[in-house]
Amino acid sequence: MAKKVVILGAQESGVGAAILAQKHGYQVFLSEYGTINEHYFRELQQYNIPFEQGGHTVEKILEADEIIKSPGIDPKKSPAIQAAIQRGIPILSEIEFAAQHTKAKLIGITGTNGKSTTTALIYHLLKKADFSVGLAGNIGISFARQVAATEHDWYVVELSSFQLDNMYSTHINIAVLCNITPDHLDRYPSLAAYQASKLRIVQNQTPADAFIYNPTDALTADALKSAHIVAQCYPFSLDIEVEKGAFLQNNDNLVAITQGKSFGIKTELVAIKGKHNAYNAMCATLAASLAGVSHDAIAAGLSDFKNLEHRLEFVANYRGAEYINDSKATNIDSAWYALDAMTKPIVWVAGGEEEGNDYSQLDRLVKQNVRAIVCLGADNARILNAYAHLNIPMADTKNMADAIAAAVGFAQSGDVVLLSPACKSYDIFQNYSDRGNQFKAEITKKITETTQ
Ligand code: ADP
Repeated sequence: MAKKVVILGAQESGVGAAILAQKHGYQVFLSEYGTINEHYFRELQQYNIPFEQGGHTVEKILEADEIIKSPGIDPKKSPAIQAAIQRGIPILSEIEFAAQHTKAKLIGITGTNGKSTTTALIYHLLKKADFSVGLAGNIGISFARQVAATEHDWYVVELSSFQLDNMYSTHINIAVLCNITPDHLDRYPSLAAYQASKLRIVQNQTPADAFIYNPTDALTADALKSAHIVAQCYPFSLDIEVEKGAFLQNNDNLVAITQGKSFGIKTELVAIKGKHNAYNAMCATLAASLAGVSHDAIAAGLSDFKNLEHRLEFVANYRGAEYINDSKATNIDSAWYALDAMTKPIVWVAGGEEEGNDYSQLDRLVKQNVRAIVCLGADNARILNAYAHLNIPMADTKNMADAIAAAVGFAQSGDVVLLSPACKSYDIFQNYSDRGNQFKAEITKKITETTQ
């Protein structure tokens, strides 16, 4: 009898997993609680994959030998998952499932912030050196779909903690832990549980593997106290120099030392800017170097890398002010790095959905660098209150058109208008991309109106 695989969730990862499962001759059933979008609906039909939508039929799900769960499903809130756990049915992430069906070497990237940027940059560096490499995780085409369609020597995989939670046997050859700061505390019972989830990235590593991490990041260092790391360690830091690993020399030279060889590049030659991106560039340089990418290719790739959309993305100049879209800054730490990276007075567009943000962590930077705050969210009371004591002009807006109108009103020539919300977007936007795209569209509209 073929193994019965049930897939929960019909987004890119779920549909990719269904295609891979079917390719391997498993008996597949996909169940989507909401509505399946047209593109995936047609694809499932095309592949003859049985599915349901608009709810989960629990009895059918419990027939599974294995369940592949979308990372978006919170196990605590899903009766189907709870019932499956009770029955002892293994629940895997799509990454775990795909990894079980490929022989490729894996570079895995996790952390609270910087995962996508670092993942995309490592991929870019390996591509630059003509490696046979795939890019997977939360970016673009799902890992499972790629494994079903092609075989590569390497995959660079972005790993969220939700994916790591359902990974058991995946062997990550080069593991990158960018950082740990408080986030997703609605999904985890404690900060310690969130830290432990991130460290699952090293769980199947051997002494032949590499672990890249920041020893001067407080919560990383704390998590490592009780961890058993068997891989070769490659620390990176902006605060200390290391014998093996990466650091900043004389404030302007990024150095990476691996296997006795040293690589250096002036920070001005690295395309992505800001302290946070210096960290990301260090991680990527170490990972690429350990994978065997030549120093020339690394230098070339660091110089011509184009960052992903919605991460400190330059949008336009309008009336002498620069508009920057950092919509992906969905927590305090990522907004901290954005505020820190700016060299001009800031009109800061911030706010949205959040529960436990400690806004006081940004007080110093706001006081120093921010000219005005445009709050943008369904309920701005917490952020308005948090900065009331700084006596900075503030606007309370609930849609992007009003936010841009307020920002244009505050901005002076030579300023930067920075959308770096420190909050999730789901209160008034579909997601962070929708928020960033609306920001870009509104400012473009203003420019067009002015030039007509
Ligand atoms: P992730 O995939 O972990 O969410 P991204 O690369 O998409 O990370 O970046 C998310 C946000 O965090 C962006 O606003 C970006 O400017 C900021 N950021 C990127 N790298 C870092 C880092 N190393 N530390 C803190 N913030 C970062």
